Amino acid sequence: MREGLTSATSAASPVEIDGSHGEGGGQILRTSLALSMITGRPLVMRQIRAGRAKSGLRRQHLACVQAAARLCNAHVRGDEVGSKSLDFTPTQGVDAGFDAWASVIDIDIGSAGSTSLVVQTVLVPAIVSGRSVRATVHGGTHNPMAPPFEFLERVFLPHLRAMGADATLTLDRHGFATGSGSQASHDEPARYRGQLTMRVEPGALAPLEIVEACEVRARKAIAILARLPTHVADREFGVVRERLGFGMHECELREVPEGGPANVLMLEVEREGGARELVTGFGERGLRAEAVAERACDALAEYLAAGVPVGEHLADQLLLPFALAGSGRFRCAPLSRHATTNIETIQQFLDVAIRVEPIGGAVDVIVG
Ligand code: AMP
Repeated sequence: MREGLTSATSAASPVEIDGSHGEGGGQILRTSLALSMITGRPLVMRQIRAGRAKSGLRRQHLACVQAAARLCNAHVRGDEVGSKSLDFTPTQGVDAGFDAWASVIDIDIGSAGSTSLVVQTVLVPAIVSGRSVRATVHGGTHNPMAPPFEFLERVFLPHLRAMGADATLTLDRHGFATGSGSQASHDEPARYRGQLTMRVEPGALAPLEIVEACEVRARKAIAILARLPTHVADREFGVVRERLGFGMHECELREVPEGGPANVLMLEVEREGGARELVTGFGERGLRAEAVAERACDALAEYLAAGVPVGEHLADQLLLPFALAGSGRFRCAPLSRHATTNIETIQQFLDVAIRVEPIGGAVDVIVG
């Protein structure tokens, strides 16, 4: 990891972040919180999530603020639902003065808001803290517009482990947002809350190169059903087999007793050399199972046709650990707005060069 990142002192100059910039969503907040924790620099954020229909902090974002505040013992102003501005002042670096109270955290989103987005806030800071950290988060585990639990566990985490992190994620109980769209999941009542646990042991983030799109060596279709008949999954698998040539042995039905009615179809591929991708189709009331499967197949077909190792969502999520490692390179399809905005947010905190170079129809993201 880069030297001299954590320098929490009361004299550190604040970083002012305009939440309406670029993509204008929650990721600007999460990346800013993570980097405020890591660098110790106070965060002054205005116009939070101004690009979203229901702007400001929702419960899920508040949970991110609360989890972050615990890990660096921050003073916080503006931490309430609906708030469009936040003052977040760490009093300790994540690597200093850590006590047992701050190392074991239990965060209840209080709705079916995404637990994986809370993980997106605290996982990387926990890794660079050099401490043992354990976090239990209650909320949604499979939400539209957020990484489903398996994406973090099967795609994001293996890349962090390849960089030297020692971290695990456990899905303790599924939690579904029954509405469609991110807003529904943020405000969903807390009836069927899921739970995940994150454990981080002292590790590091070393530079990594992911440029080769090697042969696919394993693939899997996983259909999650909660309080829905099994023909839903059978019809989805039918589409996946016909469109992408999956065999029955590559199709796994997971019936879960909690929550629902809910259906999530995930298609996962693993390439030689370790690159991975997992795309998701979310069932919605009134949407036929075949259409859910078509959406997931479209997403996987697009990833495979691009001939790159890193998929769209992984690209925006790898930027923070790569920037903290100080150098590295990955190849992906042309960057999403999430990714370009994330680069700009990171560069507000860190003096790190991040270049995006076209290579054929793809791009190389080069850090350092
Ligand atoms: P925001 O919209 O700003 O709250 O950020 C959403 C985050 O969730 C980004 O990091 C996205 O890459 C990530 N994300 C959204 N949908 C998926 C998905 N289906 N799989 C993996 N990550 C996702």
